Amino acid sequence: MKAETGQDIDKAAYLLSDGEVIAIPTETVYGLAANCFNLKAVANVFKIKKRPNFDPLIVHIAGLQAIDRFAKNIPSNARQLAEAFWPGPLTLVLPKQDIIPFEVTSGLDTVALRVPKHSMTLSLLSQLPFPLAAPSANPFGYISPTSAEHVFNQLGNDIPYILDGGPAQIGIESTIVGFENEIPVIYRYGIITPEQIKKVVGNTLIRVHTSSNPQAPGMLHSHYAPRTPLFITDLNTEITNPNVGFLAFSIPHPQIHPTNQVVLSESGNVFEAARNLYAALRKLDNMNFSCIYTSLLEDESGEATAINDRLKRASFQSDTHK
Ligand code: AMP
Ligand code: MG
Repeated sequence: MKAETGQDIDKAAYLLSDGEVIAIPTETVYGLAANCFNLKAVANVFKIKKRPNFDPLIVHIAGLQAIDRFAKNIPSNARQLAEAFWPGPLTLVLPKQDIIPFEVTSGLDTVALRVPKHSMTLSLLSQLPFPLAAPSANPFGYISPTSAEHVFNQLGNDIPYILDGGPAQIGIESTIVGFENEIPVIYRYGIITPEQIKKVVGNTLIRVHTSSNPQAPGMLHSHYAPRTPLFITDLNTEITNPNVGFLAFSIPHPQIHPTNQVVLSESGNVFEAARNLYAALRKLDNMNFSCIYTSLLEDESGEATAINDRLKRASFQSDTHK
């Protein structure tokens, strides 16, 4: 099978209704989508991604109005966050309704829900009588795809259709928020920052868990990684090996040839950097370097936290960042 790439929402709806797994665009990264109620299709998502069964899928729904069909005992904090940020790059982990299969949640009593902010996918979801279970459309552990071409290059032989919605506008995965005793807990950093969340839920304490734990079994330390080893360094470190690449935030490394470098945002804009991050890592990964260097964003606050989080997880010595 060679995937067809196109913009036919009716075709995507037909294939999904027929139990096929297809790729869909979202504002964060491309998703590998299946009918959430079709256990065979859900099993195929895990198989195609080579994703371990303990790593639960995010369920994409058409709108806030659907939240009570799929989640129960919803804390008022969660509703406020959904009202503030949906559609958008925020995933809420909530107690699941029985209708959500344990195959989707990896046996957990909670479900991760999100309304993606992408007009094609919202229109697709509104046509479908079921939500879409959709992790990122990449082989497990590798860099997430931010274009239809990225999906085609890796999963083109495994799926019949890629719904092409253009380049992902956010470029990194959603912020994941769960609730412990109704208190929001951030399980994964994203473009929606702890500060923004705090603004909505008032003075509520926000605890950040981003390491592997039973609440977020998918947050493994080595993730989003290129095949070429990626090392975190800084611009002052001497680099003598000519066969290395450099992923720069805004300032290139003075000792590395410019053609071996990708600058994420010349103006130092974190949103632009996030949007370009995965395409840049893929580009450098395909240049056959012996290794890739990068440096963390200096001002580790706001949205920069999410970029640094991805760089740490993608780096070769990610275990040291536990
Ligand atoms: P992605 O591959 O970007 O779709 O991310 C899916 C991630 O969402 C998983 O790896 C988990 O970390 C998180 N997740 C999904 N469902 C749950 C859940 N029920 N509880 C906690 N985390 C979840
Ligand atoms: Mg993923």
